[in-house]
Amino acid sequence: MTSTPVRVRYAPSPTGDPHVGNIRTAVWTWLYARHMGGQFLVRLEDTDQSRAVPGSLERILESLRWLGLDWDEGPDIGGPYGPYVQSERLPLYQTAAARLIEQGNAYPCFCSSEELDALRARQQAEKRPPGYEGKCRTIAATEARARVDRGEPHVVRFATPHEGSTTVLDLLRGDVTVENRTLDDFVILKSDGFPTYHLAHPVDDTAMAITHVTRGDEWLPSAPRHALLFDALGYRRPIYVHTPIILAPGGGKLSKRHGAKFVLEYAEEGYLPDALLNFLCITGWGHGDETVFTHERLVELFDIADLSLNPATFDMDKLNWLNGLYLREMPERDLAELLARRLERDLPPEVPRPLDRAFVEAMTPLVRERIQVLGDVTALADFFFVDEVPTPPREEFLQKRFKDDAAGAAGALEATAAALDAVTPWETVAIEAALRGLAETSGVRAGDLFTVVRLAVTGKRVSPPLFESIELLGDTRASDALRRSAAMLRA
Ligand code: GLU
Repeated sequence: MTSTPVRVRYAPSPTGDPHVGNIRTAVWTWLYARHMGGQFLVRLEDTDQSRAVPGSLERILESLRWLGLDWDEGPDIGGPYGPYVQSERLPLYQTAAARLIEQGNAYPCFCSSEELDALRARQQAEKRPPGYEGKCRTIAATEARARVDRGEPHVVRFATPHEGSTTVLDLLRGDVTVENRTLDDFVILKSDGFPTYHLAHPVDDTAMAITHVTRGDEWLPSAPRHALLFDALGYRRPIYVHTPIILAPGGGKLSKRHGAKFVLEYAEEGYLPDALLNFLCITGWGHGDETVFTHERLVELFDIADLSLNPATFDMDKLNWLNGLYLREMPERDLAELLARRLERDLPPEVPRPLDRAFVEAMTPLVRERIQVLGDVTALADFFFVDEVPTPPREEFLQKRFKDDAAGAAGALEATAAALDAVTPWETVAIEAALRGLAETSGVRAGDLFTVVRLAVTGKRVSPPLFESIELLGDTRASDALRRSAAMLRA
């Protein structure tokens, strides 16, 4: 292991909300920093201004914060190696490019975009590989400087060596070698004075003393270019970790359809940050047979070198299962508070806020086994909060035992209301006893009776446990709901 402290970074471009694939690399990077007692920093890579989406930085930081990932340095908090926004660091890249020109490792290129288009077309027609062929590399340095001084538009290209090969060490793959003649003279500084990623990466990761570059494996083919730049600038190369992509179930590119949403969309739907973090971490990394990990345990166990090179599959069922598990294992009070906030957000506007916390706490054990995400609670438990439980349509009642028997169903509900009126104390056990007793004396099978009672009392076919729900709802509201459904059936 290296003796210098580990310094790693998450370097998103401001192209919108981060999606799960991108944030998974951030999760791993953060875990590695915390595992090694090192530093984790955030750097905004906004050198492609044409792709910038306003508000991205805020959404990126909010996503990290929601997941519980903290950073030691970053655009919002600064730090000793700032600024942490690339568009505020332009002089650094320009100085590096000038130095490379001076050393003969780079040169100004004056080719127009029409010329470059024509070159590409020729290469295509002749079935040659694409890439710049070095026309401006032959311009004498003094002439090139004079043209730059005259203000002629130009980019700066790296003068890639024609001979030899370049070997990059990737922590997961070992040595990756390419022949230099397969690399063209790529652009390092654009005509507007902004660097390309190829230049900004070595400059910033060196200036910020980054030890490990963790990034998506779409960058692996460019890594030799970066290594050449590190070498030409006399910088020490970082250790590379190119993280494999996440595949859709059954292979192929992961898309929204498979659950590849933005981090904050998961927050919106009521996933728990710890569950999503756990899920993302184990999608491509594992430790024996364990599936459920707390933050602390991940920090203790996680090593970036243990990432799997096989692309992992995005398993939405596993995420839902994990989320349900986290919901069930959470302290009841904490869950009640989350449910209360969720209900306050989603219940119809006429329900008065804030909700009674003691009531929500009493409800929590009735719903916690039945929801996978917080967002499920409103559809399941709204009847506890609205003034009048909405009466379901008649056809819902007139099934099985009560098929075509509205009077029978109404009678059963009225009898239930009467039986409940006699229940004391008002407790689940007594309520259940009364309803079972009624089933016996009335000759209606308990299952058939409870189905219509459930419909009347909760407004639903599937609900939290019936007797507990009736207890929590209270005798007045329960009897009232039963009588309203009965009246509807008799009408
Ligand atoms: N801005 C690059 C991206 O979002 C960062 C790659 C890197 O981490 O170096 O893909």
